[in-house]
Amino acid sequence: MSLSVTVVGAGVIGLTAALRLQEAGARVSIVARELPPNTTSNVAAAFWHPYEAGPIEAVERWSRRSLDVYRELARAHVPGVSERDGLMVFEASVSEPASLRGLPGVRHARGDELPDPRFRAGWFFPSVLADTGPFLAWLVERVRARGAAIEQREVRSLDELGGDAIVHASGVWAGSLTEDREIRPLRGQVVSVGPLESRTIVVHDEPGHPISYVVPREHDTICGGSADLDQWDTRADAALSKRILESCAHLAPEVASRPVLGAKVGLRPKRPNVRLEHARLADGRPVVHDYGHGGAGITLAWGCAEDVTRLLLS
Ligand SMILES: Cc1cc2nc3c(=O)[nH]c(=O)nc-3n(C[C@H](O)[C@H](O)[C@H](O)COP(=O)(O)OP(=O)(O)OC[C@H]3O[C@@H](n4cnc5c(N)ncnc54)[C@H](O)[C@@H]3O)c2cc1C
Repeated sequence: MSLSVTVVGAGVIGLTAALRLQEAGARVSIVARELPPNTTSNVAAAFWHPYEAGPIEAVERWSRRSLDVYRELARAHVPGVSERDGLMVFEASVSEPASLRGLPGVRHARGDELPDPRFRAGWFFPSVLADTGPFLAWLVERVRARGAAIEQREVRSLDELGGDAIVHASGVWAGSLTEDREIRPLRGQVVSVGPLESRTIVVHDEPGHPISYVVPREHDTICGGSADLDQWDTRADAALSKRILESCAHLAPEVASRPVLGAKVGLRPKRPNVRLEHARLADGRPVVHDYGHGGAGITLAWGCAEDVTRLLLS
């Protein structure tokens, strides 16, 4: 008889873990208070960029494994997933960013390839975009097609759940289901504007500056961002939207001429380190915690899902 696993959470972390567990032979059911399109994961920009997540070595391993998986998905025409050029720009001249070190396909940008005179250095890198609307809908459809029941409800205690084993992927709310006090919200706001001609994702992620990025998608462009620790308010702030659009116009001047379509807020599950750990419930059943992916849940999801599967099934 195969192992039955209950996954708590239907964001990118819960859904990718569910799919990998099913592929490895487990019977999976999912319980979540919110389902796509109403998760934090749906708000994500969502391009490959290891941001605000630790520890460094594991993040490098998970992110690089996930990059390979997204490339395979892009080549298989999975909805929303595409390979994209990324360009990281810097105001201070710096050496190659650590997150890109050793990654094939990285190249130093020439001065005339930088989008604004304020930037003094830049690196092109191979990124991927996983447009969360179609991509998360595809994940839901895949796990359902493999037999997962998805129940929408609030879980009050992991002990109340059925199954031989539990995967706990409740994102920023993980503190209410554990004793963990290290998980905190890192509020992020994005503004969507009309589509751009350029397909390149441009990001400015440099100490001393709020992160900003421009992510061209099929029907719109996501402009970010912000990062406010311990802020739980998910209402969009008009003044912040204005600041975001001003920063983004330095990354892609076309942004300034595009109509504003809307703004969204999400709560990144910030933790000093991702918690990916095997533990036991009071009755001895195994639980694998998988939360705290900060600003990189899309970037890390597949690598983490494969570790969850190894921890439970091998
Ligand atoms: C503005 C913004 C931009 C971002 N851009 C990027 C990006 O470009 N690239 C990238 O890699 N990452 C990005 N991120 C980060 C990414 O969105 C997160 O790391 C990721 O969504 C975390 O996924 P998750 O599945 O852990 O959490 P969530 O998507 O929040 O899913 C948690 C799930 O658990 C459920 N849940 C919680 N508590 C309970 C409970 N008690 N009972 C039942 N269910 C429960 C929720 O309902 C939900 O289904 C961005 C985030 C924001 C806010």
